[in-house]
Amino acid sequence: MPQHSKQEQEPATEEVTEVGPGVVRFQLPIQMPGLGHVNTYALLDERGAAIVDPGMPGPLTWRTLGRRLRQLGVPMRHVHTVIVTHSHPDHFGSAGRLAREAGAELVTQSAFRTFRPGRDGPDQRDAGAGPVGNPFATVPWGGRPPRPPRSRMMMFRVLRLAGQFVVPQPTTRLDDGDTIKLAGREWTALHTPGHTLDHLCLHDPEEGLLLSGDHVLPTITPHIAGMGAGPDPLSSYLSSLRRVERLENVQRVLPAHGHPFDDLAGRVKAIERHHAERLEQLRSVSGALGAATVEAYSRELFRPARWGPMAESETYAHLEHLRLAGEAERHEQGGRFVYLVAPGAGAGPAT
Ligand SMILES: [Zn+2]
Ligand SMILES: [Zn+2]
Repeated sequence: MPQHSKQEQEPATEEVTEVGPGVVRFQLPIQMPGLGHVNTYALLDERGAAIVDPGMPGPLTWRTLGRRLRQLGVPMRHVHTVIVTHSHPDHFGSAGRLAREAGAELVTQSAFRTFRPGRDGPDQRDAGAGPVGNPFATVPWGGRPPRPPRSRMMMFRVLRLAGQFVVPQPTTRLDDGDTIKLAGREWTALHTPGHTLDHLCLHDPEEGLLLSGDHVLPTITPHIAGMGAGPDPLSSYLSSLRRVERLENVQRVLPAHGHPFDDLAGRVKAIERHHAERLEQLRSVSGALGAATVEAYSRELFRPARWGPMAESETYAHLEHLRLAGEAERHEQGGRFVYLVAPGAGAGPAT
């Protein structure tokens, strides 16, 4: 088996493993940059199972999901609840179809949304007030939008026509602090925006489990959405991180990619350190760059293989964070934002 430097890149295994009382983890294959599988969790009770994040749409996931449920001894019709942690296709892709075929409830965070009516593409409504008029044609900083590639949009369209993709329609939207009964006990819903605006974590205070979705991952730093996640998504993300760190009784974190882990505080510290370093890098390169575009900054932060709309989106989140903290100035130049970061203007760690 090839060695993968990051757990999240490992291909899906055939295993079905108990990771807590009444909680089972299995993996579904996905092919996305940096990701080889998604962890799907089954929360078992006397009525059957609740399924968390049933993977991408399409026949491969569907066949694998069916096989895993058979391994578990849970007929699909006994899936009474489908839970989606957030609006990324590796999490919601098969949720709508599973909910429909099983006659199950579909549970998300309150802000969850995927598709604009009549469109097959992910919703970009909150693109923000950018220098260029139409938020769908561009992004706030005037670069290319971090949209799914055309090939993936085509795939959704084809799968939808073939009945293999069903747009997820939540029947229950959880607010922060709401509780939901899973695996025979109460779990608390936590709204954890930053990776996406609609990210949901579920905490089981009784057994000390945390379903962390993509909010806290074991060996990669979750992407921070630059658009669609409010004015300062990095601040939202960092406060969501501290929020889960402060929870009482988290013995084990169950992430959507990679292996379950115990040291939540250590992982939170490492992710915070990563973002502090990114901000420090922006302060130090700004002198040499002068007033520069988001794209130019992103090329300083990311290696060439990762250049593109995703890197720009995350760089934008960091630059806006500095601007809102009074550490950077933003101007418009030829339809694009340019930023000048004042080195040393900020004191102490970013909040
Ligand atoms: Zn995600
Ligand atoms: Zn994911």
